[in-house]
Amino acid sequence: MGDSKRILVTGGTGLVGRAIQYHVEREKPEGETWIFIGSKDGNLSDREQTREIFAKHQPTHVIHLAAMVGGLFHNMAHNLDFLRTNLLINDNVLHTSYERGVKKVVSCLSTCIFPDKTTYPIDETMVHNGPPNDTNFGYSYAKRLIDVQNRGYHEQYGLSYTSVIPCNVFGPYDNFNLEHAHVIPALMRKVHAAKLENKPNVQVLGTGKPLRQFIYSRDLAKLIIWTLREYPEVKPIILSVGEEDEVSIKDAAVAIKTAFSYEGDLVFDTSAADGQFKKTASNAKLRNYLPDFKFTPFSEAIRETVHWYNENYEHIRK
Ligand code: GDP
Repeated sequence: MGDSKRILVTGGTGLVGRAIQYHVEREKPEGETWIFIGSKDGNLSDREQTREIFAKHQPTHVIHLAAMVGGLFHNMAHNLDFLRTNLLINDNVLHTSYERGVKKVVSCLSTCIFPDKTTYPIDETMVHNGPPNDTNFGYSYAKRLIDVQNRGYHEQYGLSYTSVIPCNVFGPYDNFNLEHAHVIPALMRKVHAAKLENKPNVQVLGTGKPLRQFIYSRDLAKLIIWTLREYPEVKPIILSVGEEDEVSIKDAAVAIKTAFSYEGDLVFDTSAADGQFKKTASNAKLRNYLPDFKFTPFSEAIRETVHWYNENYEHIRK
């Protein structure tokens, strides 16, 4: 047991944490003890509480998913809160990991932190090239600093703390609260409600034209587990479906409508913000490491998530 890994997953009860849990429960990996914590286990923006959590669980490895997160509209209204809360959480988790001799930390960034004005596809070398989109500057700068801090721990202490950059994630256990939700859970909630109430249409915010790469949480979870076990670099790696799998918001709305067998119309509220038009990311680095990884096709992942939503409607975060 002396050599066994104790892996602490912060944000372990959220969308991505639950998906990691899903695989770990099935795989039952030998020599690994997995500990999933959520906000009810303590407040990671508080240094003392963070230290208590680490003292209690004694992790040798950390997957750091905990963050203040939200969709476009939540970010636009609370940039300062997103900046400060995430700066505190990240410094507490990374520095407490250092203090306790944690061997490896994998932290989660997002493709929305990349420069707003950029060439496409975006790759891992471009994180710090220019200002992020104005709509989520708070979240973006806080997340970018994880990469800066990882470099610091490596240069000063030789530590292997790294980060992953997923594209837009969706799946079971997402946050379906309309005020905070990202586009896929928001539209699932709206289409489901419209179906129940026999409403003739559902409102999609913006023009429907922006493009996004969406990754199924259970695919992302497999890739994060691989990152923890195998990825050797301190520099970040983009975990995304390919550029050819980019879809429009309208395509996503249609897939959701189809999965719910909703017969009404989609109406686009063009007075609402579109956010970034696209943030097309390259997964060439990932493909170089894992040429054979198979992503779940988008429509299948939407169907699985809608099935889960219908089965778990009473208990979802709404
Ligand atoms: P982003 O990828 O970081 O911009 O975050 P979102 O998941 O919130 O996606 C935003 C895109 O979906 C924008 O183009 C929105 O205009 C569009 N969208 C359409 N309907 C909705 C909705 O009900 N909620 C949200 N959050 N976005 C919506």
